[in-house]
Amino acid sequence: MTKKDPAQAVKSAPGIGQYGSELTPQMLYDKCVALARNLWWTWHPEVHSLFRDLDPIRWRQLDHNPMALLHEFTPERLSHRAAEMILHSRINYYYRRLKEYTAERRRTWAAEHASVLGSMPVAYFSAEFGIHESVPVYSGGLGVLAGDHIKSASGLGVPLFAVGLFYSQGYFKQKLNEHGWQDEEYINTELEHLSMEAARDAQGNPITVQIETRNGSLLAQVHQMHVGRVRLFLLDTDVDGNHPEDRQLTSRLYGGDTRLRIRQELVLGVGGVRALRAMGIQPGVFHLNEGHSAFAPLEVVRLRMQDDGWEFDEALRFVARQTVFTTHTPVPAGHDRFDPGLVEEHLGPLRDQLGITGEHLLSLGRVDPHNEGETFCMTVLGLKMSRRANAVSQLHGHISRRMWAHLWPWKVEDEIPIGHITNGVHVPSWLAWQMRQLYDRHFPDGWTRGMGLPGAWQHIHDVDPGELWETHNALKILLLSFVRRRITRQCRRRQEPEAVVEAARNALEPSILTIGFGRRFATYKRADLVFTDLDRLDAILNNPERPVQLVFAGKAHPRDEPGKHLIQHIANLRHDPRFRDRVVYIEDYDINVCRHMVQGVDVWLNTPRRPLEASGTSGQKVVLNGGLNLSILDGWWAEAYDGSNGFAIGPGRSHRDQAETDRRDAAALYDVLEDQVIPTYYQRDVDGLPPRWIQMMMNSISSLAWRFSAHRMVMDYTQTMYIPAAGGLSCDMERR
Ligand SMILES: *Cc1c(COP(=O)(O)O)cnc(C)c1O
Repeated sequence: MTKKDPAQAVKSAPGIGQYGSELTPQMLYDKCVALARNLWWTWHPEVHSLFRDLDPIRWRQLDHNPMALLHEFTPERLSHRAAEMILHSRINYYYRRLKEYTAERRRTWAAEHASVLGSMPVAYFSAEFGIHESVPVYSGGLGVLAGDHIKSASGLGVPLFAVGLFYSQGYFKQKLNEHGWQDEEYINTELEHLSMEAARDAQGNPITVQIETRNGSLLAQVHQMHVGRVRLFLLDTDVDGNHPEDRQLTSRLYGGDTRLRIRQELVLGVGGVRALRAMGIQPGVFHLNEGHSAFAPLEVVRLRMQDDGWEFDEALRFVARQTVFTTHTPVPAGHDRFDPGLVEEHLGPLRDQLGITGEHLLSLGRVDPHNEGETFCMTVLGLKMSRRANAVSQLHGHISRRMWAHLWPWKVEDEIPIGHITNGVHVPSWLAWQMRQLYDRHFPDGWTRGMGLPGAWQHIHDVDPGELWETHNALKILLLSFVRRRITRQCRRRQEPEAVVEAARNALEPSILTIGFGRRFATYKRADLVFTDLDRLDAILNNPERPVQLVFAGKAHPRDEPGKHLIQHIANLRHDPRFRDRVVYIEDYDINVCRHMVQGVDVWLNTPRRPLEASGTSGQKVVLNGGLNLSILDGWWAEAYDGSNGFAIGPGRSHRDQAETDRRDAAALYDVLEDQVIPTYYQRDVDGLPPRWIQMMMNSISSLAWRFSAHRMVMDYTQTMYIPAAGGLSCDMERR
């Protein structure tokens, strides 16, 4: 991109004065605010650096939040700073690019391939959206997936409105105390530091939705954010008129008990549909990203009955045809279940209007409609309210069909109507700028338009191996300095001796094979698998010729004691002289930490207990940047690994006995490290390059980057789910 960047040309052109344009300070300031107000900037590293150049130190301190940064500037000071840094032409350039991008509707992929959605847009519901570290309305993988989904929908021009909740305290900040124990800290988000505004109705009035329960009503205001061409609506119960307790309802993600949970989900599903209605938006498709929003179709049924005078059953059939449901986990705790009392308290008034009995409503959330002992399950509701459902990888598809087979007792397993669309990641958000420049130099012009197709990525094989290796190593050094900065800060906060702080400042070694592990510390992910046999690990990490170092990060859910023990175990290895220099733990895993890790590691380690990792996406981010995956054959890796594009741990089988599985997987992990990963990495040619390793990097990029991109994922959703749900004919059904 940089080679064609006219702003660069202007910058170096002779005769352009210090100010370079006719802009007044206020006009310049307004353009910066406009850039900050559309989250389009989050996937344009050139715009990051523009903001960073305004004040590099504050930029970092403010969590890369441009609105917060701009709040610290007056137009005059901004203009001064822009002159000093010669930013005027860059600001103008990216401002124009943003305007062009948001105005463009006709020359997009969807305009050509999904025109039916033009008048029947998609409403995409998700309990969380992970767009950037400065927008704290996500906790982990599900949210980041939703964020990547809407960014790719924007890029492809798919008409889509996103609906979620606004969490004023987001998820928690993680700090480890001197014992390595996780402390959680909740911070109120400063509203004026968010690129967020009130959503408005046709008359320009802010919108408040109301939802009756048996126990009083709930109110929610509606905020909106711009994510490229997509609008994201976030419902927020912190409004006058709500009971004080209800004002806190949406303050935290996944906090509280089941009563709080059902109330959040009522606001998301029913409130979300009402918010769209209030804005005059008439979706043709409702996509429920996980069961949290599965109340939404009930409200859509109510509207059909009210508007068109239909009976419940008829309206339900119609609405189910419009509804797409995605299930995200085979782990039982990942499926919300509610007692009948809670369901009646919260859905009772809606049920009255639907004209169905309490038993009928409950039966929609039960596998066996007549089993009164079965609690109401949001996943079951989602499956029953939708004609099209999918899992998030091929393997997860098999598992989900088996898991929910009882819902269709008359069908054999292969005919269970749950397909799969494997998750993918938004390439521009996760691809390092340095790597992007390398690709821009070697791939055909405009290659990013085809980033969800195999063609463009084949050109990785034309790249000079030395250049690819150097670029990767430059990114690795950036990661290591990030790690040092973070762990030094951690030691300082815990007021550790100066010698420890000094050691942190010099931790890790760029020439050493570096393995990363960053994810939620759910126990099924087995973060401690690599620590099963500490003597064997010691020998591996401290081999004098071929050493290895590990970088760990991740949060445990606040109520997950076993997860917190795992963290403690790993974090405290720094007190063990054998591991002090070889294992580090970075606190507060979030999008920022993840981005640094996936862009800089040599190897990404993934050790879930098969088949519990539905997909996983962090390893897909690693692929884009030239890192290699070392993973159990679970989730996406089970269909991605081909023997030459990364490493597999074990043969992809599980023993009936869990402890036995864990033992075998740990042994397989050490074996593959000793026999494949380490020798391949350290085998060097006369130029000091590892030829077989670089070949694997290229194989990984060419075979995986397009397949596990969110562009490919959103194209699949559009062609196999959205278009048929909108009543159109898909041109590409056989891909499923
Ligand atoms: C990508 C991402 C995840 C998802 O990681 P998994 O591979 O699914 O465990 C979780 N958290 C953050 C912050 C991410 O960016």
